[in-house]
Amino acid sequence: MTKETLQNITVEKNKNSKIGEVDFDNLVFGSVFTDHMFVCDYHDGQWQDPQVIPYQPLTLDPSARVFHYGQAVFEGMKAYRDDEDQVWLFRPDENFNRINKSCERLAMPEFPENYFYEGLKTLLELDKDWIKKGFGNSLYIRPFVIATQAGVMASPSNAYKFIIICSPAQAYYGGEVRVKIADHYSRAASGGFGFAKAAGNYAGQFYPTNLAKEDGFQQVIWTDANTHEYLEEAGTMNVFFRIDDTLVTCPISDRILDGVTRKSVIDVARDMGINVEVRPVKVKEIIEAANDGRLKEIFGSGTAAVITPVLGFGYKGDKWELPKQDSTYAQQIKKRIMDIQYNKAEDKFGWRYKV
Ligand SMILES: *Cc1c(COP(=O)(O)O)cnc(C)c1O
Repeated sequence: MTKETLQNITVEKNKNSKIGEVDFDNLVFGSVFTDHMFVCDYHDGQWQDPQVIPYQPLTLDPSARVFHYGQAVFEGMKAYRDDEDQVWLFRPDENFNRINKSCERLAMPEFPENYFYEGLKTLLELDKDWIKKGFGNSLYIRPFVIATQAGVMASPSNAYKFIIICSPAQAYYGGEVRVKIADHYSRAASGGFGFAKAAGNYAGQFYPTNLAKEDGFQQVIWTDANTHEYLEEAGTMNVFFRIDDTLVTCPISDRILDGVTRKSVIDVARDMGINVEVRPVKVKEIIEAANDGRLKEIFGSGTAAVITPVLGFGYKGDKWELPKQDSTYAQQIKKRIMDIQYNKAEDKFGWRYKV
């Protein structure tokens, strides 16, 4: 952290750290938060008053727009501590750019770059003891923006809060994941805001995902809203299919979240000499490949778990199990990415950012 970092940010330290009460060996993902939070307010046409303060509840007017019209966007990123006690972020510029794209689509003001990095660095400096050493340990960072203007008029808010909270995380084991391919419900439509990391995209997924859970699946793989013929993405992850030795994933569109992990998987896989095809993927193609024994893997990609292998899938009442294998692309690619994140391997792509 440089000296200039503190110039813009007001800091109020938490005098009652909770860190001693936290069992870092038994963390439930996203349930414990650090001692501080970053908060910046937007009013009178500009972002102002950036500050790091003790983690605390917010006070909002019950008529605040976020509660009624859902102007809310967020990000998910992580900080990692290496064996030499240095702290790193992974491609934070991608998260910064994406939250502003999400903001633009929901008619919310873009957040300034200097406040983003200075706020984040100041927060991480104060809460650095919460970032534990060890492969798999990390600090999950959740920036978000909400509309705070009071009044139930259905129009964009003129006041917002940009907040960053942080939650210590252990190696994330996604458990046994079987996915249901959507044939009725949709997560996003063309012209909509599926590409934005908007709270509402999640709210709309919970009900169909609950229905899939009743059928024994943990997640849904969403298909295109028009025809349900093309596979798009899983609930909180982008999705990859390995057919023979080729990795296939669908292209980004306005219906699909442009995942940082997805991009990284594509680059790392190509660097390993794996043939990667970014093209529309038909449900029919995947089912045929599964029936022919050519579908070797399905996995999801996202910041929380990096890569989550899928054990099987269902479609319109039928179920398929994927073959068990010794050395999967999922494992190999995950290790490569984590080695870069934890400063255990050369960073030839320039993805690491030292805090
Ligand atoms: C956040 C998210 C992802 C994964 O994005 P990463 O940048 O890799 O974490 C994928 N799909 C959806 C819907 C998401 O919200």
